Amino acid sequence: MAERDATPRFRISAKDLGQLAMPEFCPRCFWLDRHYDLPFGGPFPGIFSSLDSYSKKIVHASFDRHGAPPLWLAPLGPFTSYIPPPAPPKFYIDDDATGIRLTGAPDGILVRADGRKVIVDYKTAKHTAAQDELRPIYEVQLNGYARIAESRGLGPVDRLALVYTEPITDGSPGLFESARTEEGFVMGFRATLEDVPLDPDLLPPLMRRAREIYDAPRPPKRSPGCEDCDRFAELSLAAQDWP
Ligand code: SF4
Repeated sequence: MAERDATPRFRISAKDLGQLAMPEFCPRCFWLDRHYDLPFGGPFPGIFSSLDSYSKKIVHASFDRHGAPPLWLAPLGPFTSYIPPPAPPKFYIDDDATGIRLTGAPDGILVRADGRKVIVDYKTAKHTAAQDELRPIYEVQLNGYARIAESRGLGPVDRLALVYTEPITDGSPGLFESARTEEGFVMGFRATLEDVPLDPDLLPPLMRRAREIYDAPRPPKRSPGCEDCDRFAELSLAAQDWP
């Protein structure tokens, strides 16, 4: 079969591609988001990425000092080392079938004795039903990382996992007393592991769908479950009369 003309190539992160797997996915929102600089959303608090990055440093420091991961990662092992995750500009694949550049930023690539890899993603969050609702996104995200890793020579990947790190907010007065430091306080975290199935077949239909929506000359129909577009249209109309 002839290869698709790769232009115009568009880029999408594996996590954003996961939006297409959500039950309430709205193609119109996706189209608008890809074609316009939307004024919604606001800045995402950077504290979560700082905490995820801290988890990564704790794991790498454990390998560097003890040659092994922290005990709470042991169920995924055994491991012999880790690979520093490549920076996002170097971690992507160009999919010629769709003309999509799929990008990613894995939190952790852990190495087994036989060279196989386990890719983990740290989520600073309680492992709750609300987090489970985001599972379709995480499955696409991690399978995207696996595909990119293998195409970049960082495979083979044989396991994917989410590592939830949840702040421990309960404790005794004595514990709170000992948590104080001169600059502030220290806080503990509890890690919970969750496997994500390796499923290479997950990505191609989502990438084809993303391409189809992106290429549409007009915004597709809106999601039946969301009325915000109607509200926005009313707001725009009303705003025209404002000084
Ligand atoms: S219907 Fe809702 S989700 Fe879809 S484009 Fe409009 S605001 Fe976004």
